[in-house]
Amino acid sequence: MTAQKLVCSSMKVTITNDVGRVIMPCPGCGETIVRSARARKLAIKYKCEKCGFTGPN
Ligand SMILES: [Zn+2]
Repeated sequence: MTAQKLVCSSMKVTITNDVGRVIMPCPGCGETIVRSARARKLAIKYKCEKCGFTGPN
């Protein structure tokens, strides 16, 4: 896996070195969703850019 720029889907910030980040497939379309630790902690909703799926987790 090559180093890539990871942008939090909730907060639109680059979190390449964010320890608590989560990378997961979108439940709707499988697109990669990245969430920062801060977004998780604050339970900020994310939205999939591809299919528009939103969710808290
Ligand atoms: Zn999606």
